[in-house]
Amino acid sequence: MLVLPIRKVRSILKSSGFENEVGRCIELAEKASRAGNYALGALVVLNGEILAESGSSLIGDNDDPSAHPEMIVVRHAARRMKSRYLEGAYLVSTLEPCPMCTSVAIWAKMSGVVFGATQMDAIQWAAEHPDDVFTWRQIEIPVRRVVTMGTPRLEVYEEVRRKECKALFSLNENSAVDAESSGCSVAGGGQG
Ligand SMILES: [Zn+2]
Repeated sequence: MLVLPIRKVRSILKSSGFENEVGRCIELAEKASRAGNYALGALVVLNGEILAESGSSLIGDNDDPSAHPEMIVVRHAARRMKSRYLEGAYLVSTLEPCPMCTSVAIWAKMSGVVFGATQMDAIQWAAEHPDDVFTWRQIEIPVRRVVTMGTPRLEVYEEVRRKECKALFSLNENSAVDAESSGCSVAGGGQG
């Protein structure tokens, strides 16, 4: 019989509810990558219904530095619900959201944040691939840290399908030449 430490068991149970949503984010990330953008995808889900979804469109998206996919989906979900508060909803992303995006989830009074690859995964990738066109720059404050500073206190589910989400970094490496030659002008996919 396999005996796991209690903390490990809890984390498996906690992460098991969002695997399909993270899977959808992976598809969005792959589509964004094919369009020359960062291989990132995000969505907002409420009671099993996806309110908004988007791949990264940071490159070529009206020069908007805040156009992270997580920001886009929270904005669209709020508009759709005609409310700036999204109680009961979860922000799901392939990569640990940055402090800006985690903050918008808190401002929207969402229930939680779910992600696959961690900020440290991105930092490690960037360190190992210094010549990549895509830098995967991070502001090194983890979601858990931001969440503990805010109200309401959001739930955090991390490392959901982490291995597949980490593999997205290498998609950008493969598409880097195309992205460079096209001037990174093509916006990413997703309706977000
Ligand atoms: Zn962000």
